[in-house]
Amino acid sequence: MRIDIITVVPELLASPLNESILKRAQESGHAEIYVHNLRDYTDDKRRTVDDYPFGGEAGMVMKIEPVYRCIEKLRSERDYDEIIFTSPDGITYNQQEANRLSLMNNIIILCGHYKGIDYRIREHLITREISIGDYVLTGGELAACVIADSVVRIIPGAIGDEASALTDCFQDNLLAPPVYTRPAEFNGWKVPDVLLSGNFAEIEKWQEDQAWSRTKALRPDLIKE
Ligand code: SAH
Repeated sequence: MRIDIITVVPELLASPLNESILKRAQESGHAEIYVHNLRDYTDDKRRTVDDYPFGGEAGMVMKIEPVYRCIEKLRSERDYDEIIFTSPDGITYNQQEANRLSLMNNIIILCGHYKGIDYRIREHLITREISIGDYVLTGGELAACVIADSVVRIIPGAIGDEASALTDCFQDNLLAPPVYTRPAEFNGWKVPDVLLSGNFAEIEKWQEDQAWSRTKALRPDLIKE
């Protein structure tokens, strides 16, 4: 899978995309992630990517031309399944959307900045608008990292231990059961006996019960039919 991220602050993306699972997924060829600096698509000396809003509101607005040039260049090289804009008024991101995106070949993520982007970009170039929650960030870069991370880790083969991704929270709309490691007792705090029993049927049943009871207690909205 290939992810192209368009931003005015490429530095913000460097570390999150180049460590841990995302790094390994790129090294093993499961994912390619490219960051494009929008300023490379300007045509003036000052590399201007924003301008004052029509109507005289406060704040600056990202201009159409550099975004258009960058997206058109990418589209001339390959087909894209989705051109995503990160936006607080988009659909709220969740595991189902991550699963859906992980099946795609090529996606673009455009990061907004400043007051926002010229609305015509959203009307004519964007195919999907995604919010990572009901709060406002300074820019779309952190949202793009959240999307890239959550998508890449579920590309088959990317995570190494695939079973692990499938038993995470939200797959099956359930929260994950608790996990423990050695020592079996610390400070008098004990690991549940069943996990030390060696009885795998019992352990599996306990994990399922835990997933259900934790979901019912903490996130009943996930299991309402
Ligand atoms: N004026 C805009 C917010 C601009 S914040 C409004 O009120 O809707 C600047 C940029 O940060 C946005 O264009 C968007 O790309 C990004 N951003 C902010 N909050 C976000 C969120 N919750 N999810 C995804 N992207 C967000």
